[in-house]
Amino acid sequence: MNKFIFVSGGVCSSLGKGVAASSLGALLEGRGLNVGMVKCDPYINVDAGTMSPYQHGEVYVTDDGAETDLDLGNYARFTNGRLSQDNSITTGQVYESVIRKERKGEYLGRCVQVIPHITDEIKRRIRAIADSDMDVVIVEIGGTVGDIESVPFLEAARQIIHEHGKINALSVHLTLIPQVAGGELKTKPTQHSVKSMQEQGIQPDILICRAPVMLDESIRRKIALFTNVDPESVFTSYDISSTIYEIPLIFFEQKLDQVVLKKIGVESRHADLKPWYTMMKQFSSRKGNVRIGIVGKYMDLHDSYKSVYEALFHAGLAGGVEVELVKIDSSRIEESENPDGILGSGAVGGGVDGILVPGGFGQRGVEGMIKSSAWARTHKVPYFGICLGMQIMVIDWGRNVLDWEDADSTEFNKNTEHPVISLLEEQIGIKEYGGTMRLGKSESVAESGTHLFAAYQKAHIFERHRHRYEFSNAYREEMIKSGLRISGVTPDGSLVEAVEWTDHPWGVGVQFHPEFKSKPTAANPLFRDFIAAVRDRKQSQTYIQEG
Ligand code: GLN
Repeated sequence: MNKFIFVSGGVCSSLGKGVAASSLGALLEGRGLNVGMVKCDPYINVDAGTMSPYQHGEVYVTDDGAETDLDLGNYARFTNGRLSQDNSITTGQVYESVIRKERKGEYLGRCVQVIPHITDEIKRRIRAIADSDMDVVIVEIGGTVGDIESVPFLEAARQIIHEHGKINALSVHLTLIPQVAGGELKTKPTQHSVKSMQEQGIQPDILICRAPVMLDESIRRKIALFTNVDPESVFTSYDISSTIYEIPLIFFEQKLDQVVLKKIGVESRHADLKPWYTMMKQFSSRKGNVRIGIVGKYMDLHDSYKSVYEALFHAGLAGGVEVELVKIDSSRIEESENPDGILGSGAVGGGVDGILVPGGFGQRGVEGMIKSSAWARTHKVPYFGICLGMQIMVIDWGRNVLDWEDADSTEFNKNTEHPVISLLEEQIGIKEYGGTMRLGKSESVAESGTHLFAAYQKAHIFERHRHRYEFSNAYREEMIKSGLRISGVTPDGSLVEAVEWTDHPWGVGVQFHPEFKSKPTAANPLFRDFIAAVRDRKQSQTYIQEG
C-alpha cells in the first residue's frame, strides 16, 4: 500500500516548507524507499508558465514540458523521483477540470460543490501519483493554515488520512518558534497553528519547528503537551549558516526518518546518506572563491534564476571553490561606455572571473548582454550562455566578428537584414506564425572534441528546453567559416543546440537549460566545467601576478 505524508505550514510563510518536505524525501530515499513529491498550489493560475518571474520567481520546467512552480526544483535537487506535470496541482487546474466535466454533463445535473467535487478531484490527482510504483508520496500543501485558498487542499488531506488510516497517511506540520527580545523562545504561535489544523480536522503527527536555535527537551515537551503530539515527534529546523543542503542531515541526527518510518509502519532499514555527507565534506573543504557575473534582467529577486544559482553552487562544491554571485543588471552595462568599468578588475568591488548570461524573454537588457558576451570573448574570460545567453553569443558573433551591424534575433528586431536567431516558422517561410514554445526534454548530439562533449563524456545528451527562437540555419555556414564552433545539434542535424568559441579558455552557449537537472550531490557537467575553467584561469593568473 502507498503511504501519504502531508506537509503543511503555519504561523507565516517562507519557513522553508519546500526544503523540509524535500529533505524528508531525501531521508526516506536514503532508507531505500521510492518517494514521490507533489506540490499543491492554492493559486488560481493553471500553471506557472504565464506568471511573471518578478512576482513568482523562476518557472521550473519538467521533462514532459510542464511549466511549474519553482518548488519542484527543490524536489529535483533533493530527491530522485520522476517529476512531471502531475506533480504540480494548482487550484486553477482542479477547477478547470471540474468545470469541464460539469459542462459535459458528467455530474448528471447534480449541484457541483467544493466538497465533494473539488476535493474529489484533488484526491484523484494526489492518488494518481501514488498509483505508480511509489512507496511514499509526500504532498506539500502550499500556503499557510488559516488561508482561505488552502482549505480545499487541507480538506482533501483530512479525507485521505481518514480513509487510508493513520498508519498510511501522516500529517507533518511546520511552524515557527520566534525568539523575543531577551532571548526567550515562544511556543504560542505554534500552539495556535496546531489548533487551526485541528479545526480543519487534522491532528498533526509530527511538528517541525523553525527556530533560531535547536529547541531543548523542556520546550519540546511543552509544545507536545499543548498540541497532542508525542515529544519525540517534535523536531527543530534551526537556522544554519552553512547551506540548505545540510538540512537532511540535521533532521537525520534528530531521527526524523526513524520516527516517520515507525508511524507509517515500515520496518527500520539501513540508512545510506553517504552522498549527503560527502557533499558536506566538499562544502567545508572549499578553498578560495570565484566571482561569477550573472548578467540578466531579473536581478533584484533572488528566485528568478533560482536553479541557475543553485547549479553554480553545486559546481563550486564539485570544483572545490566558493562561487560568489555578482548579479549585474544588464541595463547597467548597456548604459556604460565600456563594460570594463563593471566587469574588469578595476571595477568597484573587483571584477568578475566568469560571466553567465541566463535565459530570458523580451528586448529589455539585451544590448548589455551582447556587450558582455563581446567583452568575455575578447578578454578571454570564461562565458556560459544558457538559452537566451547562447542566442546572445550568436548575435555578438554576427555583429562584431562578421560585421553585420544589425545582426539580431527577430524576437528583438523583426526587420533586421541579418536575423541570425529567428522562429523556425520564419526560417521555413511560413507566413502565419504563433511561435510555439519548444518545451521539455529533448536530445542533443555533441560533437567530439568540444567542451560540450568533454563535459558530458558522451555524444547523446538529454536536457530540457523552453524557448521559441532558434539559431538561423541560413547563417550556419558563414558562422562556422568565420570560426564559431557548432558543438551540438539535434539528432537529425536540423537545429543548432550549442555553440562554442575556439581560441578561448571556455565559451559555451547551449539552447537548453542544464540548470534544471543539477544536484548538490551531482553538479550538472556543464556548470561543473564552467566553474573549473574559471577556477583554473584565476589560479594561473594569480601565479603570473605573483610570479
Ligand atoms: N527568448 C528566447 C526564446 O524564446 C530565449 C528563451 C529562454 O532563454 N528561455 O527563444
